[in-house]
Amino acid sequence: MVDMDKIVSLCKRRGFIFQSSEIYGGTGSCWDYGPLGVELKNNVKRAWWRDSVQFRSDMVGLDSSILMHPRVWKASGHLDHFTDPMVDCRACKKRFRADKLEDDTWVHYCEATKGNKFAVPAGEPCNHCGTKRTLCPACGKGDLTEPRQFNLMFKTFMGPVEDDAAVTYLRPETAQGIFVNFENVLQSMRMKLPFGIAQIGKAFRNEITPGNFTFRTREFEQMEIEYFVPPGSDEEWHQRWLDERFAWYPKYGIRQENLRLREHEKDELAHYAKRTADIEYLFPMGWSELEGVANRTDFDLKQHAQFSGKSLEYFDEETKQKIVPYVIEPSAGADRGTLAFLVDAYREEEVKGEKRVVLNFNPELAPIKIAVLPLLKKNERIVETAKKLCTDLRQRWHAVYDDTASIGRLYRRQDEVGTPFCVTVDVQTVGDDKSPSDDKVTIRSRDTMQQIRVPVTSVETVMAKLMAGAWGEIAAEQGVTKN
Ligand code: ATP
Repeated sequence: MVDMDKIVSLCKRRGFIFQSSEIYGGTGSCWDYGPLGVELKNNVKRAWWRDSVQFRSDMVGLDSSILMHPRVWKASGHLDHFTDPMVDCRACKKRFRADKLEDDTWVHYCEATKGNKFAVPAGEPCNHCGTKRTLCPACGKGDLTEPRQFNLMFKTFMGPVEDDAAVTYLRPETAQGIFVNFENVLQSMRMKLPFGIAQIGKAFRNEITPGNFTFRTREFEQMEIEYFVPPGSDEEWHQRWLDERFAWYPKYGIRQENLRLREHEKDELAHYAKRTADIEYLFPMGWSELEGVANRTDFDLKQHAQFSGKSLEYFDEETKQKIVPYVIEPSAGADRGTLAFLVDAYREEEVKGEKRVVLNFNPELAPIKIAVLPLLKKNERIVETAKKLCTDLRQRWHAVYDDTASIGRLYRRQDEVGTPFCVTVDVQTVGDDKSPSDDKVTIRSRDTMQQIRVPVTSVETVMAKLMAGAWGEIAAEQGVTKN
């Protein structure tokens, strides 16, 4: 498993993710997606939207606002319950989530070894004196305070007056925007149960201990589905969504062995949930939540009906009865998903005695799909042909032209950002005094480093097949040459 520092450094060096406000020293836990990062994250979101909305007849989309009526958060329970237990170190003043104290290595001054300082692995006792952690895990000296409940919502003021009447909150989840629009969507789209509403958007949580790069930040993006079902069919639908969502990540390249399901214990369930299971990914810091799939029962619709005074019921034509649907919620993080796809794609290999770093993204997710490279940048006909080909391919895929280094370096550069295919234009393509042009270009595969030669006029058709995974087949037809 690659360590996070390597991912952070590659992301910065190659324009995926930068520290926010870096020139001012950075803002804690905020990150900016650079030119390649925004492409990657957009591709993750697009794949999710297509699979969750476009390909399904029982789903529709929504884009609700971040600022909502403050009563929403009273009704949803977030004002009273959306808290984490926080403890402070009396010596170094650092703050921690009381329920995550054993998740990291802890600092220990061991009396059995004359007070020597050790970093003890997460959750384990010191192997010299056998004691467990009781003091601050960061400084190893201070006592910790009793836990206090800390509300994670960001408070702000709506309008020009900063008084209590104007207080509102940045949404801590996109879900509530869906619940308050339940009736609007039901009526305007004439939906029939079971059906779902999907939304992608920003959410904000004033996390006590953000960290692990983009894994836990205070501003992040969610991809949420609220799927409304008749009461009584909720358990079956919950299982169906769990299976569906668990199969989604491998479809875009995540290795099965790096995914697992974790059932929430009863005492861990959120205030609204009947059952929740997390899809966990083996991140560099260990198994951590990628997506939560919860059975939210009829809690939210009932709460909003009560607090708003509006009926949020569904009329069942068959039984001629009004019912409040149950809700299954697959809630994924766009940033955590993007990070998982990045980590999972990272490979280091040795090729001809040199290190090759590759991101083997599924072509669907790769930020750049094709790089067009001229073999000789001083040959006008080569450059002209390559530029024209790149412009043509751009109509359909994100393609780039690059002539700023030797071909070997250009290939490595594209490997490192995960470009699945490079197209090279050479002397043979355009011809010279000695030999006529063959009007063919070389296509090189990132994963196999094999090359095939195809007519310029059929590059687009061949590319469409390659993007769909036909490299092996086409290469076999052609008789391939190794790089
Ligand atoms: P955790 O236990 O890690 O704090 P959670 O159980 O509070 O997460 P949910 O409320 O289930 O998270 O949120 C759904 C999804 O939103 C998560 O699975 C995750 O992908 C994403 N998410 C939640 N909080 C953050 C955050 N602070 N930064 C990035 N993504 C987040």
